[in-house]
Amino acid sequence: MIQGAIHSIETFGSVDGPGIRFIVFLKGCKLRCKYCHNADTWDPKSEDMRTPQELLDFAERYRGYWGEDGGITVSGGEPLLQIDFLIEFFKMAKERGINTCIDTALQPFDEDRNSEFFGKFEELMKYTDLLLVDIKHINRDEHIELTGLPNDNIIAGMKYLSEIGKPIWIRHVLVPGITDNDEYLKQTRAFIETLNNVQKIEVLPYHSMGQHKFEALGIPYKLVGVESPTADRVANATAILRGEA
Ligand code: SF4
Repeated sequence: MIQGAIHSIETFGSVDGPGIRFIVFLKGCKLRCKYCHNADTWDPKSEDMRTPQELLDFAERYRGYWGEDGGITVSGGEPLLQIDFLIEFFKMAKERGINTCIDTALQPFDEDRNSEFFGKFEELMKYTDLLLVDIKHINRDEHIELTGLPNDNIIAGMKYLSEIGKPIWIRHVLVPGITDNDEYLKQTRAFIETLNNVQKIEVLPYHSMGQHKFEALGIPYKLVGVESPTADRVANATAILRGEA
C-alpha cells in the first residue's frame, strides 16, 4: 500500500481553505522560494509515513469540527510531488463525503497531455474540490530569481484548471522589492482576468518567520533586512489583483 511522507499535521486550520480544516503538510519541494516558511519540508524523506486509510481515519476524529464547509487540505512542501498518494487519499476522502483541497505551487505540473503526470493530475482533479495556488512571480526571469525555477508550467497548470472549471483561490505573497511592484501586479491581474475559475484573491504579506528554519538548516537566508509590506501596500496590491484599482 502506498504511503505518504508527512511533515506535520494541523488538526484545526482556519485559513487554508473554507471552514475549519484538517491540514496535512507533506514533505518534498523542488522550488526554493526565498521567503519559504517551511524550508524544513524540502527534503522528501520523512520518518512519519502513513497510508491513505491511516491518515483518513485519523483526520476523521476531527470531523465534528468541520461543519458544512470544512474538510481536509493537503499542503506542503509541494503535495503534487506525492500525487500517487494524493489520488488514493482524496479518492477515499470523497467516498466518505469529505471536502478536499490542495495548497500547491503547481511546480510539478506537466502540460504535455500524453505525460504520466498529466494523466495522474486529471485523475486527481476528479477528487479535488478546490486548489489554493499562487503565481509566485508573473515575470519568468523574476520567478527564477525568486524560486529557482521558471513559471511556464505553473502558468500552464493554472490555464488548465480554468479550462476544466476547477475552483481556485489565488494567494499571492507580497514581498517588498520583489513582488510589491505595481507593474508586475498589473501583469498578474491581466493573467487572472483570462481565468474563469477564480473564487477568491488574497494577498499574503511577506514576513520573516521562515528565517529561523533556514538558519537551523544551515541555508543562507536571502531576504535578510527585508521588512513586511505596509498595510497601504497590501491594500494597493489587493485592489490591483482584484481588479478594483
Ligand atoms: S513552494 Fe512552498 S514549500 Fe516550496 S519553497 Fe516555495 S514556499 Fe516553500
